[in-house]
Amino acid sequence: MEKFSRVKALVDLDAVAYNFEAMHKNIKPGTKMIAVVKADAYGHGAVPIARLVQDYDYIWGFAVATEEEALSLREAGIRKPILVLGLVFPECMEELAKNDISIAVSSISLAREYAKAGRKLSKTVKIHLAVDTGMTRIGFHDGSQSLEEIKNISKLPYLEIEGMFTHFARADEYDVSPAKTQLDRFLAFASLLEENGIHIPMKHCSNSAGLIRMQEANLDAVRAGITIYGVYPSQQVEKHIVELKPVMELKSHVSFVKKITKGTAVSYGGTFIAPKDMQLATIPVGYADGYSRQLSGKGWVLIHEKKAPICGRVCMDQFMVDVTEIPGVKTGDEVTLLGKDGQERIDIDTLGDLSGRFSYEFLCQISSRVPRIYI
Ligand code: PLP
Repeated sequence: MEKFSRVKALVDLDAVAYNFEAMHKNIKPGTKMIAVVKADAYGHGAVPIARLVQDYDYIWGFAVATEEEALSLREAGIRKPILVLGLVFPECMEELAKNDISIAVSSISLAREYAKAGRKLSKTVKIHLAVDTGMTRIGFHDGSQSLEEIKNISKLPYLEIEGMFTHFARADEYDVSPAKTQLDRFLAFASLLEENGIHIPMKHCSNSAGLIRMQEANLDAVRAGITIYGVYPSQQVEKHIVELKPVMELKSHVSFVKKITKGTAVSYGGTFIAPKDMQLATIPVGYADGYSRQLSGKGWVLIHEKKAPICGRVCMDQFMVDVTEIPGVKTGDEVTLLGKDGQERIDIDTLGDLSGRFSYEFLCQISSRVPRIYI
């Protein structure tokens, strides 16, 4: 049955395990890892990834972006700590508190709301202070004006400051000095809090880029996202420091093969006109699967270990490729949209570059219509 599936995303869990080990070897002993599994683990499936690694001793827990993501991990039986990195709404707080979810807090009002949920349930809820050191997204300003607010937070009953973090805006660029400035600001702010009697048990700054390239930023924990999935945060991040294995492959099958004559228009808008007699193969995948329409006329797939360029526009559910130079292509033959076929490989950075999307974005947009198969 699987052989005839329209399209599937193969997720290699051994590669995920390998990537965790590779990252863990690169960080100093004792530093924990927070596995960032938001956006359904960047499209890979948060529950299977979390189940795979939750018993590793160096995994502190998981980070997600929303309350729904946190609760669905708990419903699936994930027991380790879960931190919601994004804004949570007061209406969800009781449910989060019941499920022992830690939340990021950027204001005293949010902390008060969570403490209120704790009081109602007679349990201590946990927060991580988000500190803005240069991302200018969420978080307390890293100056003395936040001190009073945080002092007041630290006195709230039913509330515990479990951690504090900042997020690097530019750790994935050749020049890491902007990220180092953020780190210095974070550490200075942490010292200010300590001097004022506010103890922060767990400080974390590094994302994937930081954990690879900034040992000094790997504090009590690091938050690894994209590297779990075998992808480097950018093409400016050195690959030799932590060698990763790609995790996802996208595979489909040829659904139709036809000969066309010179001058035939192909797909919507007739943007491709056959310059000669050609052989085309139709692939039953489209932008509704997350295979970007921006790949129209630019991308290629692999069939029989060879490149087959896309002709004309990618439709919602299908697109056509040129197989004139690939003899013997027939309905049912395997097609690689992402991953390896013999010596050839299409990686996520290539798909990102060709489509004008970011690698992270491409992965997140592989739609729920594409079954994830764990191998
Ligand atoms: N921490 C925060 C606050 C994030 O928003 C993200 C991702 O966007 C990460 C960590 C993980 O980043 P990366 O996937 O680059 O490791």
